[in-house]
Amino acid sequence: MASMIRYCFISEWLDPSSGVLWKYQLFWYPETKEVEMVDIKNRRHFLKRTKYEEIRSSLLYIGSMLTIFGRQLKLTEYGDDFTRNSVESQTERTLAMIKPDAYKYMGKIIDAICQSGFLISKLRVAKLSKEEAEAFYAVHRGKPFYDRLTDFMSSGRICAMELVAPAAIRKWRELIGPTDSNQARAEAPNSLRAQFGTDKSFNACHGSDAPETAAEECAFFFGRDRYPGKCDVAHNTTLCLVKPHVVTDGGAGLVVDLIQDVFDVTAGQLFTLDRNAAAEFYEVYKGVLPAGDFNAMVDHLTSGPVLALEVADRDGASSVEPFRQLAGPMDPELARVLRPESLRARFGLNTIKNGVHCTDLEDDGLLEVNYFFTILAQS
Ligand code: GDP
Ligand code: MG
Repeated sequence: MASMIRYCFISEWLDPSSGVLWKYQLFWYPETKEVEMVDIKNRRHFLKRTKYEEIRSSLLYIGSMLTIFGRQLKLTEYGDDFTRNSVESQTERTLAMIKPDAYKYMGKIIDAICQSGFLISKLRVAKLSKEEAEAFYAVHRGKPFYDRLTDFMSSGRICAMELVAPAAIRKWRELIGPTDSNQARAEAPNSLRAQFGTDKSFNACHGSDAPETAAEECAFFFGRDRYPGKCDVAHNTTLCLVKPHVVTDGGAGLVVDLIQDVFDVTAGQLFTLDRNAAAEFYEVYKGVLPAGDFNAMVDHLTSGPVLALEVADRDGASSVEPFRQLAGPMDPELARVLRPESLRARFGLNTIKNGVHCTDLEDDGLLEVNYFFTILAQS
């Protein structure tokens, strides 16, 4: 019998109550979907081989956050050469960008990305200054189109994403198509530049062209202590959180698309929340809900990536109540009866995994938006 495949990673867990950082060898047996953990410092089994179906091989890459039995582990290193060799080729990264002309189609483009088998490991909406656009496109300095390009790239919001997939760089450039959108319509009519771009200047999307530029461009947007193009928090906006079950199942693009039909999305970022942040954010529900429900909400919100969106009314009026209408009743079962078109009716599974969070009270819009886009985004 062939020997069983076993991946090994070094993982870290920051105990939120004591602040102690624990290191584990994390073993994953894909054939039997079993996980095993060894405490490196004490050389002791922390978790013996146990079935854990929630792990997917696509989530096993360096930098990934995995929640295993309620602990958020960060994969920091490969544990052996076999794992490095098998995983590295499967998890190439590229920088994808939705340019200002296609920002209104962000939901459709995110959906196309998810349907094409990419994992979105990082995402941020930004509004670049002219100087930031010039720095990003420094390789084109001196070319005749440079000034026009950097004017365009600083003319409105963009969405930057780090995509992970086998051969991600080539695959994403294939999905976006040729640089000139007119040429794309002739040669690759299903490509994103064919669908959402205009010509050679306004061509909807960007993709890195090689491993070195991919690493540089990902670092431009997502490097430590960097925050280019931070969007100012607007007035009268509200917060939408696309919950982990929707993000993990690849439904985030559809949610964003339904929101963009009616509202403007003025900020956005993918977060992995720790328990302290999730409990702090849900603080107001603590006294109101049964303790079990509160804990289940915190468990779910920390179980995977959350897409936070700042949602704005197009005419500048308050978006809190109108967005609550689009979100629908808290309980998806009820939503499917009363408001079948609502987001919770479409994406909710139960009252905990109910698809989206929305700000409840008019006065809390600014507070909740700030919690994500000012406090968490830069912590
Ligand atoms: P990409 O890698 O396919 O995005 O193409 P390049 O790296 O060659 O160029 C960067 C961006 O500059 C393109 O996506 C276009 O937006 C713009 N661009 C490139 N070539 C031209 C050109 O000849 N004319 C104009 N107006 N814009 C161009
Ligand atoms: Mg290029």
